[in-house]
Amino acid sequence: MKYQPSADRYSKMQYKYCGNSGLLLPRISLGLWHNFGSVDDFGVATDMIKYAFDSGVTHFDLANNYGPVPGSAEINFGKILKENFQGYRDELIISSKAGHEMWNGPYGGNSSRKNLMASIDQSLHRTGLDYFDIFYSHRFDGVTPVEETMQALIDIVKQGKALYVGISKYPPVQAKAAYEILRSAGVPCLISQYRYSMFERAVEAESLPLAAEQGSGFIAFSPLAQGLLTNKYLHGIPEHSRAARATGFLKVDQVTEDKVEKARRLNEVAVRRGQTLAEMALAWVLKDERMTSVIVGASSVKQLADNLHALDNLAFTDEELAEIEGILRL
Ligand code: NDP
Repeated sequence: MKYQPSADRYSKMQYKYCGNSGLLLPRISLGLWHNFGSVDDFGVATDMIKYAFDSGVTHFDLANNYGPVPGSAEINFGKILKENFQGYRDELIISSKAGHEMWNGPYGGNSSRKNLMASIDQSLHRTGLDYFDIFYSHRFDGVTPVEETMQALIDIVKQGKALYVGISKYPPVQAKAAYEILRSAGVPCLISQYRYSMFERAVEAESLPLAAEQGSGFIAFSPLAQGLLTNKYLHGIPEHSRAARATGFLKVDQVTEDKVEKARRLNEVAVRRGQTLAEMALAWVLKDERMTSVIVGASSVKQLADNLHALDNLAFTDEELAEIEGILRL
């Protein structure tokens, strides 16, 4: 039966302007790094995209190398769009990125103009799209001048292959240079994407204030610390988990007793708030006014539904925040 998106989808989501732009993003976006590749269940992947859209999630975050195998998340997403979302392209914000290892040889994995120009064409081909809404430089590679990478992003917009551009994981010095180059070319940096969660707070010092000062939106990836900030690992490493999967990016030795103990205590705070730990972890990231959106990952519709419930309670009392700080400092 043909998929019919839920008629009241937009009343279920909260949206926020991305930095100084006129683009509204959902407070919760869906990322396709894991669980959408050729090794994953295509039916579950399809159901998650449909559920997300039915819940007002308009923003889907991809990269050239998402899979495994690399590229297969873009292929699967393209297939899901073609089979279910004909006529809805103008209701979707689709992001992709280039800059990490993707193909063999000296041009397959850095932030050179050569890599970005070839990569966006490959990504458009895999997804079957005419353009991306947002195209990112996935990383500063330590060698390529920021001017070269930014000029490639500017030209990608001028060629009509992306509407907006963003940067991901740029150290503050290179981020500042990027913001200035992009702004003076009339293609301002729409959005900055960094790792941020209760367990990973490095961006609070410089990257987050810098993005806000420069008028860029900010989007947090791995807001659940890949599952550590959920109830998943409270009683060991379950068989069906990212840490247990051979292809998962979370390694068993990252599931430390220290993290699990903190998660247990945080879970007690969450329960008192009437939330799951995942919901509270997302609400905690979103409480910052400068945070445009969080990109969650999910391996099932049930997890995604849980995560979307975070929006039901984004407010924290001073006492709750102090208690959380105390637990994180343990
Ligand atoms: P999360 O921190 O949200 O972790 C997602 C994982 O946590 C899921 O796959 C699942 O793991 C588990 N999980 C999620 N929800 C629940 C729940 N309610 N209850 C229990 N377990 C849950 O994010 P990701 O690390 O997946 O990153 C999100 C997105 O951010 C990526 O898809 C990608 O788009 C982007 N990203 C960008 C990067 C960059 O360099 N710019 C780098 C990394 C990510 P399980 O499989 O164990 O069930």
